[in-house]
Amino acid sequence: MPIFRLAVASPLRRFFDYYPPAGLDSKQLARIHPGARIKVPFGRRSRCAILVEQVQDTAVAENKLREAGEVLDAQPLINRPLLKLCLWAAGYYQHPPGEVLRATLPPSLRNGQPYQPVRQTCWRLSIAGRGLPEGAPRRAPRQAFLLELLREAGSMERASLEQAGISPAVLRQAAGKGLVEAVHLEPAHTPAVSRPGLDLNAEQQVAVREVAASLGSFQCFLLEGITGSGKTEVYLQLIARVLAAGQQVLLLLPEIGLTPQTLQRFQRRFAANIVVLHSNLTDKARERAWDEARHGRAHIVMGTRSAVFANIANLGLIVVDEEHDQSFKQQDGFRYSARDVAVKRGQLEQAPVLLGSATPSLESLANAERGRYRQLRLTQRATAAGLPQFIPLDIRGMPLQAGLSEPLLSHISENLAAGEQVLLFLNRRGYAPTLQCHHCGFVAGCAHCDARLTLHRKAAQLRCHHCGWSARLYRECPECQSRQLMISGLGTEQVEETLLARFPAVSTYRVDRDSMQRRGAMDAVFEAVSSGAPCILLGTQMLTKGHHFPEVTLVGLVDVDAALFSSDFRGPERLGQLLTQVSGRAGREKKPGRVVLQTHYPDHPLLQTLLRDGYGKFARDLLEQRRAVGMPPFGHLLLLRAEAGQAQDAQSFLDQVRDGYASAREPGVTCIGPLPAPMPRRKSRFRSQLLVVANTRALARRSARQLVYLAEALPAGKALRWSLDVDPQDLM
Ligand code: ADP
Ligand code: ZN
Ligand code: ZN
Repeated sequence: MPIFRLAVASPLRRFFDYYPPAGLDSKQLARIHPGARIKVPFGRRSRCAILVEQVQDTAVAENKLREAGEVLDAQPLINRPLLKLCLWAAGYYQHPPGEVLRATLPPSLRNGQPYQPVRQTCWRLSIAGRGLPEGAPRRAPRQAFLLELLREAGSMERASLEQAGISPAVLRQAAGKGLVEAVHLEPAHTPAVSRPGLDLNAEQQVAVREVAASLGSFQCFLLEGITGSGKTEVYLQLIARVLAAGQQVLLLLPEIGLTPQTLQRFQRRFAANIVVLHSNLTDKARERAWDEARHGRAHIVMGTRSAVFANIANLGLIVVDEEHDQSFKQQDGFRYSARDVAVKRGQLEQAPVLLGSATPSLESLANAERGRYRQLRLTQRATAAGLPQFIPLDIRGMPLQAGLSEPLLSHISENLAAGEQVLLFLNRRGYAPTLQCHHCGFVAGCAHCDARLTLHRKAAQLRCHHCGWSARLYRECPECQSRQLMISGLGTEQVEETLLARFPAVSTYRVDRDSMQRRGAMDAVFEAVSSGAPCILLGTQMLTKGHHFPEVTLVGLVDVDAALFSSDFRGPERLGQLLTQVSGRAGREKKPGRVVLQTHYPDHPLLQTLLRDGYGKFARDLLEQRRAVGMPPFGHLLLLRAEAGQAQDAQSFLDQVRDGYASAREPGVTCIGPLPAPMPRRKSRFRSQLLVVANTRALARRSARQLVYLAEALPAGKALRWSLDVDPQDLM
């Protein structure tokens, strides 16, 4: 008798073996496929598990094995390649496999409810209707027309009938006479239609040709193309080929990139079933999208990070747009990188993977240099738009008004006078406004975190951006009672006020997390901007991605210094990406943009390389630096984090893990710490971390397993929260 190896959603990083359900013969057992859901007793409760495989042997003692319950699905809900992908990801990121698999299902199916396929209501002729002669009923020509339509088509959806001019009333009347009847059918597969694309330039042609030649097999491509070089057009034309071959496409976008504009561009090009997956879907919508993808009816599955685990019947191509974007890495729970999982998925599904970016990550550049990825380049703008001109502005010693220097303000005023638009960018990192006492230096801090509170003037509040705690504005210093309170740092609110005072006649739009919370707020801004009237757009990171502002001809970067001296090892990479992305949003044909950067360090070598040689050279220089110090992508990082109510608890737990690990450690692995995290206290919990750097990926995988094994075995680990982050994005 076979043994069922099952994945059960639980915090345990392992599978569970069960006897198969009683009363099934070997033929019936053979028809139960991996990926099907099975009810099992688990502890004292019943759980919905997923069959991973049927095996012959088990290490569990016979008297300990329990019997699995009802098999819920005749057809597996997770197909083979996806099952394999999930198991790989569970192993690579050391996350419980049951949780990884369960998360691929729509919430409504996670707890064992029966699967009900999506059905559409269609109309067809009844027996009585079929018996009528052509043209009948003569007295009711609309009904006669309906009968004629159905006679020809067999059955039709209500929506198509309405399109043909049949009103719901006519349908009701015919149904009332018993001439037509409703049936519930599974939606049909319809082929996608692609409308013709643009004539590609030479570089685009090469890109399309190379990737198209790999369809049907695995190869990863890195499409490095400056903003506006026509990367999206390359995706569209490749997608057209995949659809023509009857296969499906998975397109992953950063959170900010998944906009109505993006969707519209795809809908204009393809008469196809495009399903969109993101975190704000209702359960019903998610289930529908999942069903469409799983049955191969969705031609294009478009989504953010988690869409990489969509169940897709017949995957022909994976595209990851803006592959460098940080939002592809999940920062809590299951800490996977959707980009890296996408590459693995292409390998398992034998489909090419296309990673596109104007500012590729150092990881992808290194993979291209090693020959693992094939590199494709788009070096020209697709339209006649010129590239922006960079103007570094040395602001040392200059008076500033809300961070803005007089030369920047006069650039702005010239631009507005010429009837053009301005985009001002404020890096939110390390640059938020806080309240400080001018007399004693006191700075308002969070009661629960080692962080400064951010001033929100309109709300008259101080807020912690890490835990949400807030306090009312002080009138006097809590330390020395002085009333000399001043604002240090800079926020969008403040810059906005200065701009309003200086340029009262033009509209200023503030785009940040506060001002964009309202639904549709962003769309309203875009509408105003696309009217072309002179205005100022003022914002944070939200402005840097996904959107083009052709009428903007001046980009002002208010402060780049914080990023130059960031303590994060990825700081310079992020700065280069941000600067390049934000400047790439501006300008068009006859009006190339200007990019003015305010800095106290105009001679900083990083800045010099970036401005003189562009992101490509800049990034390759950074790669050399990373190689020299053995940091990613040359070293492989594991970050074991722990947090506890008492600082010494987190620290001593990690000490124990490190000691256990040190005894078995292989050469080629370095342990750093445990040390307090860069923000040692967050949400009233004390945080420490142990960093492990391994020379090779194989070593890192072994170390990850070992660290988790040790941490799970320690009794101290039960009393606090810990997590392992494989390939962490930042070391916070
Ligand atoms: P990217 O994705 O690299 O930012 P897009 O694909 O959005 O670039 O292209 C930028 C602009 O150039 C778009 O308006 C697009 O319609 C246009 N474009 C792209 N390829 C071509 C082409 N081959 N001929 C003419 N216009 C093009
Ligand atoms: Zn004071
Ligand atoms: Zn806080």
